[in-house]
Amino acid sequence: MAGEPQDDCLFCKIVDGSIPATIVRETETTVAFRDINPQAPTHVLVIPKAHHKDAAALAAEAPGLAADVLRETQAVADEEQLESYRIVFNTGGGAGQTVWHAHAHVLGGRGLAWPPG
Ligand code: C5P
Repeated sequence: MAGEPQDDCLFCKIVDGSIPATIVRETETTVAFRDINPQAPTHVLVIPKAHHKDAAALAAEAPGLAADVLRETQAVADEEQLESYRIVFNTGGGAGQTVWHAHAHVLGGRGLAWPPG
């Protein structure tokens, strides 16, 4: 069911602490941790604690929680002192989504080309 922890979900396991992560921020509803394969000097993932499969599902099923995630991306950017940064929600396999638990990538600390690849 939407929002319930999934046994086979890597990010649900980071939320429950059974898989380690370098956590940089945590709120009642969200966790932010460093990406294990960073694509920029700052590369932090912000996830809702509740399981929603992607950004579209999160926005439809729990819009208040989607707002919490966005607010946390800003908090991460502030803490990391990023003047410019990019927030990415890869949505669907063709866009590069590999983990099916909604997550925002916060990327910064270097110039970021546009358009993205
Ligand atoms: O958008 P996408 O689904 O590809 O992003 C998943 C991200 O999760 C990847 O950037 C990957 O490096 C990261 N990851 C992580 N810790 C894990 C497994 C994956 O930070 N244990």
